[in-house]
Amino acid sequence: MPKERVQKKSRQHGDIQKQGINFNKEFGQHILKNPLVVNSMIEKAALRPTDVVLEIGPGTGNMTVKLLEKVKKVNACEIDPRLVAELQKRVLGTPYQTKLHVIVGDVIKTELPFFDVCVANMPYQISSPFVFKLLLHRPFFRCAVLMFQREFAQRLVAKPGDKLYCRLSVNTQLLARVDHLMKEWDGLVRICFSRKNKTIGASFKFTKVLEMLEKNYRVHCSMKNVAIPTDFDVKAKVTDLLEKNGYELKRPRSMDIDDFLGLLNCFNEEGIHFS
Ligand code: SAH
Repeated sequence: MPKERVQKKSRQHGDIQKQGINFNKEFGQHILKNPLVVNSMIEKAALRPTDVVLEIGPGTGNMTVKLLEKVKKVNACEIDPRLVAELQKRVLGTPYQTKLHVIVGDVIKTELPFFDVCVANMPYQISSPFVFKLLLHRPFFRCAVLMFQREFAQRLVAKPGDKLYCRLSVNTQLLARVDHLMKEWDGLVRICFSRKNKTIGASFKFTKVLEMLEKNYRVHCSMKNVAIPTDFDVKAKVTDLLEKNGYELKRPRSMDIDDFLGLLNCFNEEGIHFS
């Protein structure tokens, strides 16, 4: 096919030229480039070496290769044959080649293979049919760690009276236990951006913020059966962790995603959570 025609066709399909690969908007191709986000999703999945994982939409395989390091087998379902080729090239000749099984096609129309855990940075347009497919899937699997657009995630966990409470909320909560895993992220970013020109140190001195963190810390400790020292001082603890990790004088207006993820990580390591 002459080159010009190919280009015209790809434009019609809404392709975006990026890093030498055309990403297709129709397939919801939003590649996760941030390793901290990928790591955090994998950590939440609490994978075991004997697990079989189902990954939806592996794309170029940034998450897939990390899954392959940790588990026995990855079944990856991808609709776009160009990306399947990329992915297969990526594992070719490595020890992971035999652990990866790629299913080429639309996951909604595919009979799912056996899996213990499902992990996916979801193609957003299939969020709803895919959730229903998972809810009805048998045999039962251990868990699914799924990345959705914010509003869709909020609908999954919405409670009676919430603005986003809907049929999806009711059905999901009837058939599964659902947790919003990364909402802490939103809590942290909100605090930072409520005063984006101030230093992080200053934003974490507000009584309201400290009270919320202390309450969450106490809940965390009681759930983990950890005793809280009688002289516990949330303000001192927060100031100390911000100083120790070099965040005290940083300003949100010039922090990138890695900075925020690193900051969230420092809090979590100390058992201080945002939700
Ligand atoms: N997991 C990758 C890419 C996520 S983008 C990453 O995190 O970087 C979503 C991926 O899902 C794309 O690769 C897209 O081609 C694929 N996809 C879209 N619709 C699909 C469908 N119906 N079935 C299977 N894969 C699909």
